[in-house]
Amino acid sequence: MSINVMLDEFKEIAANPKKQLEHYKGQGKKAIGVLPYYAPEELVYAAGMVPFGMWGSNKKTISRAKEYCATFYCTIAQLALEMLLDGTMDGLDGIITPTICDTLRPMSQNFRVSMGEKMPVIFLAHPQNRFDENGLAFTVAQYTNVRKKLGKIAGAEITDEAIKNAIKVYNRSRAARREFVKLANDHCDVVTPTKRSAVLKAAWFMSKDEYTEKLEALNAELAKLPVCDWQGTKVVTSGIICDNPKLLAAFEENNIAIAADDVAHESRAFRTDASETEADPMMALAKQFADLDYDVLLYDPQSAKNRRGEFVANMVRESGAQGLVLFMQQFCDPEEMEYPYLKKALDDMGIPHIKLGIDQQMRDFGQAYTAIQAFADVLEMNK
Ligand code: SF4
Repeated sequence: MSINVMLDEFKEIAANPKKQLEHYKGQGKKAIGVLPYYAPEELVYAAGMVPFGMWGSNKKTISRAKEYCATFYCTIAQLALEMLLDGTMDGLDGIITPTICDTLRPMSQNFRVSMGEKMPVIFLAHPQNRFDENGLAFTVAQYTNVRKKLGKIAGAEITDEAIKNAIKVYNRSRAARREFVKLANDHCDVVTPTKRSAVLKAAWFMSKDEYTEKLEALNAELAKLPVCDWQGTKVVTSGIICDNPKLLAAFEENNIAIAADDVAHESRAFRTDASETEADPMMALAKQFADLDYDVLLYDPQSAKNRRGEFVANMVRESGAQGLVLFMQQFCDPEEMEYPYLKKALDDMGIPHIKLGIDQQMRDFGQAYTAIQAFADVLEMNK
């Protein structure tokens, strides 16, 4: 199969989550909606069900969710609820609602109230102090509750062996995605920003074994190509999500490729593996959460050192990019509070950046397009 055909398949899947859901339901499988961030999807897989990432949608307008949401909630959270209320995600057998930010905490209750008897809503609280014995025990306790509730939906208890197998499947999938983002940088003439985004987005709507098989096949074909002699410029992207094809098309029109990313919906979700040798697989998942780093949503005891800002700035240098584009999700406090630190690290290293205010209801791209166009000239000077 040619690379373009493979890329088109990912694009089709990324653009049609409802169709994917129907596909799995047609196979008699159960599916669980998984809201951001850091839910242990491995448990869903271990229960024999398909996890379905719920990061809102670029296609929807918010109407029914308004009944439940404050106007200052980000559109990711509001649109995730809208998709449940308007029937888009009707095939789901339950949802997991992590509560890691100030929007998701109250939203978890909005989901519970709005779903009523329609579907089980599984609450998940991650600890702030996730490293020490107590933090790990808290995470294990929370994950154990999720495990029990998923087992109830699946109709069978989830065994340790099934979780160990799921960890292997997920580690392999994370490795394939890490490999893909490197190959996408080497072959940015073939893997354009919209195509890169679609490949990574499709992972949220596919069973991970199936996705990984497809992605490994794509990686193998990309690896055969000579590294491209890219004449345009490159950036690192940062933010919560940047999956809007229209916005990404503006990069392509200005010959800007994506060298690497620090995006929650993309690389932040697959940077860290879980141990395959830990005797207790629940502890392996808790330690994986503890091992997550350089993330605006997670407590960093050494935050005064601006480790995260420097990590992202170094990513720009090491990936061969000339600058950074920050997709600032409207009404996202964690990203907004982190921005001054990221800016300082970038400024200290002389790395140019722009901050684009976005949300998932964006319809007018004129201002963003102009900013990207002007930034392309700045990047050209930094080559
Ligand atoms: S975009 Fe920001 S405010 Fe919205 S759910 Fe994510 S972290 Fe929370």
